[in-house]
Amino acid sequence: MPELPEVETVRRSLEERILDKVIARVQIMMTKMVRPGAEEFAHGLVCETIEKLDRRGKYLIIHLTGDKALVVHLRMTGRLIYCHPDRPLDKHTHVILTLDDGHQIRYVDIRQFGKLQLIPKEELGVLSGLSTLGPEPLSDDFTKEGFKKALRNKRTKIKALLLDQTFIAGLGNIYVDEALFRAKIHPERVASTLNPREAVRLYTAVRDVIAEGIENRGTTLRDYVDGTGQMGGYQHHLRAYGRENMPCYYCGRPLERKVVAGRSSTFCPKCQKA
Ligand SMILES: [Zn+2]
Repeated sequence: MPELPEVETVRRSLEERILDKVIARVQIMMTKMVRPGAEEFAHGLVCETIEKLDRRGKYLIIHLTGDKALVVHLRMTGRLIYCHPDRPLDKHTHVILTLDDGHQIRYVDIRQFGKLQLIPKEELGVLSGLSTLGPEPLSDDFTKEGFKKALRNKRTKIKALLLDQTFIAGLGNIYVDEALFRAKIHPERVASTLNPREAVRLYTAVRDVIAEGIENRGTTLRDYVDGTGQMGGYQHHLRAYGRENMPCYYCGRPLERKVVAGRSSTFCPKCQKA
């Protein structure tokens, strides 16, 4: 599933190609992928100019010059790809926006959990899911002191808390496992039991893994590609995620895997004490 670094990479790769372009034509092959209905969606997009590309958490927000914005969530396997119309059509292509430069933006999604929502810009602040997001991990809103304080009264497992988009935006299974490993904190630790030093280590680790993920243009394990169809590179730098039974980078002991908060979690039983 694309997490913050992957969505940010999609945003950057698309931005340099689609900014100021006009949407000339809209084709919808699967109506359940779009909101509102297909007709209103297509009608609302045609002739609109792409003004700005934003990201918040795992949401990509395409601002149009009119009063609307296109909010995209890729969920499990969504891809948004800018390409030449001659490129063979992937059979899981559900929406095609043809631009005035002749190129297309194709929405491809094997599992069909993603969503493209065209909404009035004034509703960005109240849109379900988007409006309740916690702070961006790399923003000034996410502070060491604020993080320490927020952990103090949380009786939930730290893994579940970091996955909670209302607590902090953009993290998923990969970057949470990486951050906990780097901070040497067991995924099942109750958040309020972290001492100040551990909290600071975790704060730093979260910011570091997200920044490194972006620098490496995201993690491609199966489906994720950027806005031009290129794979990311952070899969070569993962230290915990997907490394079950492989030696810990710190102590050499084999990493273990366990389901925590309903998600598969890889950790070092020695370095990350329960
Ligand atoms: Zn270890």
